[in-house]
Amino acid sequence: METNTKILACEYQYLESSELGQVLTWLEEYGEKAAVLAGGTDLLVKMKMGNLQPDCVIYIKKIAELDYIKDDADALRIGATTSLATIERNEVVKTYYSALYEAVRSMAAVSIRNMGTIGGNLGNASPAADTAPPLLVYDATLKLVSQQGERLVPLNEFFVGPSQSVLKPNEIIAEIIIPKLGPDSGSSFLKLGRVSADIAKINVAVYMLRSGSKCESCRIAFGSVAPTPIRVPQAEAMLNGKEINEELLGAAAQAGAAEIKPITDNRSTKAYRQKVSKVILQEALQAAWQRAGGAL
Ligand SMILES: Cc1cc2nc3c(=O)[nH]c(=O)nc-3n(C[C@H](O)[C@H](O)[C@H](O)COP(=O)(O)OP(=O)(O)OC[C@H]3O[C@@H](n4cnc5c(N)ncnc54)[C@H](O)[C@@H]3O)c2cc1C
Repeated sequence: METNTKILACEYQYLESSELGQVLTWLEEYGEKAAVLAGGTDLLVKMKMGNLQPDCVIYIKKIAELDYIKDDADALRIGATTSLATIERNEVVKTYYSALYEAVRSMAAVSIRNMGTIGGNLGNASPAADTAPPLLVYDATLKLVSQQGERLVPLNEFFVGPSQSVLKPNEIIAEIIIPKLGPDSGSSFLKLGRVSADIAKINVAVYMLRSGSKCESCRIAFGSVAPTPIRVPQAEAMLNGKEINEELLGAAAQAGAAEIKPITDNRSTKAYRQKVSKVILQEALQAAWQRAGGAL
């Protein structure tokens, strides 16, 4: 039977509040029967396709206290309902957090970026989520809140499988915390899609901290090449503490490509993903190093 994507076939109760406390009370009450709705650009697609049929939909975008970007002394803090468009327009993000800026700018079209939120991109837990690789290389932490209180979860431990995370049914993501980056650091993000503004066939982010001609610290994360967005520690280890040159970046890119576990799906083939991973990682490494002030 053909799916009619113009209607929401299931009936559900709709709840909305501008009070975080009220939303957490509802989540406690409805638990797994509830779905949190932010921009709806993932959730409503799943509901229209009949892949998700919640008894209750709880709208959270009216909670003003979750919509902000704060450039604090120790970290950049982004509220979970902050739209992708707001992040894209933020001067601090644009100037200092190049990988996140490039990721957000690559996502969908303006209309989706106006509706879609950073919390929704992570909460959806897609292996292809474009904000995940930059946030992984920035060593971001998520603040999760429920009626019981709050807990901090490193993003590295948040995703557990396709559409699966450690988020409990009574919790929401409240904040994304990005530690301050070093002064001589640079980051980059690259993505290949079927057409522009599409979900990634493969994406990659790199963060490098420079000390003279050496790389003091490097983090690399891929998306769309494993059940979750992943770091590639062997490639990172090849660069940490080393003098950087083109040859070493090429060897690290080769090593990173060997660490991914892609599959063939409707967006790309395993072979294509394996082949291009080295190329985009090498380019991303070069860009991050040069942005950190390093010479090649
Ligand atoms: C045409 C189109 C193009 C797209 N292109 C891209 C792309 O290029 N790259 C990309 O990565 N994505 C893309 N997407 C997917 C989507 O736009 C993004 O993932 C977006 O960031 C989702 O945010 P949202 O606020 O709309 O989430 P919603 O749809 O509201 O929610 C998504 C999921 O996260 C949960 N959720 C939402 N907020 C929270 C929260 N604060 N705490 C806990 N759980 C929460 C919801 O319950 C739901 O399960 C595209 C979607 C469409 C329709």
